[in-house]
Amino acid sequence: MLFTSAVAAFALVAGVSARSVPSPIEVMKRTHVAGSVITKCSKSGVLALAYDDGPYQYTSSLIDTLDAAGVKGTFFFTGTLYGCIYNQRAAVKKAFDNGHQVASHTWTHPHMASLSAQGIQSEMEKVEQAMVNIFGKKPAYVRPPYLETGGQFLNIMKQMNYTVINDDIDTGDWNNKSPQQSQQLFQSAGVSGQGHIPLMHETYQSTVTTLTTWLINWAKTNNIKIVTVAECLNDADGMYKEGTFPSNGASSC
Ligand SMILES: [Zn+2]
Repeated sequence: MLFTSAVAAFALVAGVSARSVPSPIEVMKRTHVAGSVITKCSKSGVLALAYDDGPYQYTSSLIDTLDAAGVKGTFFFTGTLYGCIYNQRAAVKKAFDNGHQVASHTWTHPHMASLSAQGIQSEMEKVEQAMVNIFGKKPAYVRPPYLETGGQFLNIMKQMNYTVINDDIDTGDWNNKSPQQSQQLFQSAGVSGQGHIPLMHETYQSTVTTLTTWLINWAKTNNIKIVTVAECLNDADGMYKEGTFPSNGASSC
């Protein structure tokens, strides 16, 4: 079979190629491609805590909580939703420096499905520029506001080489669910099967304190590892895109 022998040939080449290049086997394990919508991890035994809508006033203390527990989170940051991202440089850089995944949640948090191709691209590029200015890399992951993936959004994400994340457990923190009600959702879903990628928001104090602490303990009790979204997709080396903008690009909101 042509496909099988091609894989075997790649595997042979991989054995002698530079280590910095992800092996074709690793790439194949990702099981996802740019522009498709991911809702779960691609392996079991993991949990990817993914926080939307920051940076916010709790970002830094949330990072401290995750660091103290020795776990990695994913931050889907916007440019302007709760103030300008450039006013939160320290928190954004801290998330990156401490090994958490920093990803895009668009510049202004619009309904992406209703934007033109150019509008979608602009929403993504402004976040890329900000992240290059703040920590030197462009994100390769996006969670669209309201989880909306219609219109031209997925096409543009494919062109821009973004991995698109949704969720498999909506904690409902945005809809007045208490941490206890959210916890019940995780207990019902359980820990067997592919790891969860919950929808949660770092803009609610109860999420960053009560729910996060509970999830850290729940994971520990059940022997599951809390990892970045990229790592839960076997893509730990793919959090950021190749190439940079000039670091003297626009740096205001
Ligand atoms: Zn959001």
